[in-house]
Amino acid sequence: MDRVMEEVRLSNYLRLQFPSKSENESLARITVASFVANLDPTMEELTELKTAVSEAVTNAIIHGYGEQAGEVTIECALFDHTVKVVIEDKGVGIADIDEARQPMYTSRPELERSGMGMTIMETFVDSIEIESTVGEGTRVTLIKTFGMSNDVM
Ligand code: ATP
Ligand code: MG
Repeated sequence: MDRVMEEVRLSNYLRLQFPSKSENESLARITVASFVANLDPTMEELTELKTAVSEAVTNAIIHGYGEQAGEVTIECALFDHTVKVVIEDKGVGIADIDEARQPMYTSRPELERSGMGMTIMETFVDSIEIESTVGEGTRVTLIKTFGMSNDVM
């Protein structure tokens, strides 16, 4: 979305920053869910968004920072019925983003990760963008529009 459109249509936003501790993963998930509550999402849409956010935040904590301490930032913005959530870390970064996005690819099999986090994110939101630089960090942008479900009763 270009900048002018963002300025015209942006109706609300939120910025959240917290240390890379695993106990903050549920905080992030619940905060994003509360933020979109006014859009009246279905339970399914809400669960999908929460799950995608939770995967991205877990990745920032586990892979981005690992044993290091750092900060995770989440920015949410609402445009009509669409939410954009940006999850950012200043951790190790991803050398090969295409490889990282492959289903079942994990760099940490010893942690019993299944390598499905990115695939889950892709399934549960309308669009996902991953930007990363080794040694600088990773930014994941998730976009989801509510009320797009076809299963009208
Ligand atoms: P699972 O999510 O199933 O527990 P996983 O986290 O390894 O396993 P994905 O979430 O799909 O799987 O991520 C794939 C790989 O991408 C990771 O193993 C890691 O190497 C890399 N990766 C993902 N997010 C980040 C990040 N924020 N910083 C650095 N590397 C990342
Ligand atoms: Mg993961």
